Amino acid sequence: MNPIHVIGGGLAGSEAAWQIAQAGIDVILHEMRPVRKTDAHQTDGLAELVCSNSFRSDDNEQNAVGLIHHELRQLGSLIMASADANQVPAGSALAVDREGFSNAVTKALEDHPRITIDRAEVAGLPPEDWDKVIVATGPLTSPALSHSVLDLSGEDALAFFDAIAPIVHFDSVDLSKAWFQSRYDKVGPGGTGKDYLNCPLDKDQYEAFIDALIAGDTADFKEWEANTPYFDGCLPIEVMAARGRETLRHGPMKPMGLTNAHNPDVKAYAVVQLRQDNALGTLYNMVGFQTKLKYGAQAEIFKMIPGLENAQFARLGGLHRNTFLNSPKVLDKSLRLKADPRMRFAGQITGCEGYVESASVGCMAGLFAVRETRGQDILTPPDTTAMGALLGHITGGHISREDGAGKPGSFQPMNVNFGLFPPIEAPTKDEDGKRLKGKDKTRAKKRALTDRAKVDFLAWKSSLDLQQTAAE
Ligand code: FAD
Repeated sequence: MNPIHVIGGGLAGSEAAWQIAQAGIDVILHEMRPVRKTDAHQTDGLAELVCSNSFRSDDNEQNAVGLIHHELRQLGSLIMASADANQVPAGSALAVDREGFSNAVTKALEDHPRITIDRAEVAGLPPEDWDKVIVATGPLTSPALSHSVLDLSGEDALAFFDAIAPIVHFDSVDLSKAWFQSRYDKVGPGGTGKDYLNCPLDKDQYEAFIDALIAGDTADFKEWEANTPYFDGCLPIEVMAARGRETLRHGPMKPMGLTNAHNPDVKAYAVVQLRQDNALGTLYNMVGFQTKLKYGAQAEIFKMIPGLENAQFARLGGLHRNTFLNSPKVLDKSLRLKADPRMRFAGQITGCEGYVESASVGCMAGLFAVRETRGQDILTPPDTTAMGALLGHITGGHISREDGAGKPGSFQPMNVNFGLFPPIEAPTKDEDGKRLKGKDKTRAKKRALTDRAKVDFLAWKSSLDLQQTAAE
């Protein structure tokens, strides 16, 4: 049996290589460091954490990322075992000693009899005699490889910069202030004329909002990001506000063609529009609101918008250098490149975001490659599980009604969050029959989502027959 080649020994590639080797199949792991460096990595270690040392919440009852930790542990994840063995105190979060963590991953992979580590850049498409490849080269994929993928899959296959507008949980928007309407009631393909949620601002609210934007703290560009120019179409809102107080009112906040359903006689001075961000309709993005404001400033300033006073953000806005595929268009449901199915993609390059999410996509890619190599059906995790929900986002769950899935620019990287899960009927009363309200109601809903996920995940895991494949 030919070995499976994994390109990139980061969070995703390390996990993919481990899963494949544990299933009894040979792996060649190609990592370009230290021969060729990236702008962010500092060491030669595999699975280096380039920034924070936190894997975020470890709570698997109330938090979607904690649920991914749980699912990865169930699958014997190397990344989670190495994190658990190198934990440092961080309250309910899982934080690690970064050097100890990377050393543990590196040693486990170096010592594994089924794994060969090749320290070299794969500077183009994989050679033809590599019949199964997992590309896990991350947000800083070397240009020689990313440009070859671009040539193969077309110009809208890959983005090099993410300009992310904040995404809000639909059920946290105040619908007594916001209303549904498309500008000029226009009905686009698959639309209804009511595809946007609109939040109205009067003149005083607009002026106060502009003041706050201009005064807001912005995150610094890393030295190597600073040379990447803004694209015309995605200027940060605070930059637009600083160019002129009316710029936003003539740009993403223009009020034209909209009538406030709650107050039809009063014309809004400015309007913030939110557009459906996932097929489930649980998430809405703030249209044109990409920003470099620090997260704390964003949460504070965006809550000044009428209707968003209690907004819960699935993710805040950002602008970074980040290489990622237009996955809903170019990948199939099991992460294979449609233009060359011997290549499967994993990690942040697929459009997930974060260490744990990247590891989980690496884990799935590894398991899918194992089953394919053995001639078994590829079983993807149910979308009710954290890993399945994330896979759904990557391979096509993200459908903006106006844009349609796969249109360049409509797909943006995302952390795992409960907005990606199919909705659930959560208990409305506590054990004593008292009606649940506020935080208790939210907790009950998250608990119901994680309970369902755990049951469905176990069933999926049993169907994979991991014991048998590992023993062969
Ligand atoms: P990586 O971990 O980056 O691994 C990719 C590997 O591929 C690298 O080792 C690279 O050297 C190698 N490689 C690239 N091209 C080639 C090639 N052609 N041939 C061979 N090898 C190659 N996430 C968080 O959760 N928390 C954070 O605080 C955080 N901070 C970040 C800060 C920065 C500056 C960046 C860029 C990202 C940050 N992220 C953070 C996101 C983070 O990159 C991912 O979460 C995670 O590291 C991605 O895992 P990955 O395996 O996809 O890529």
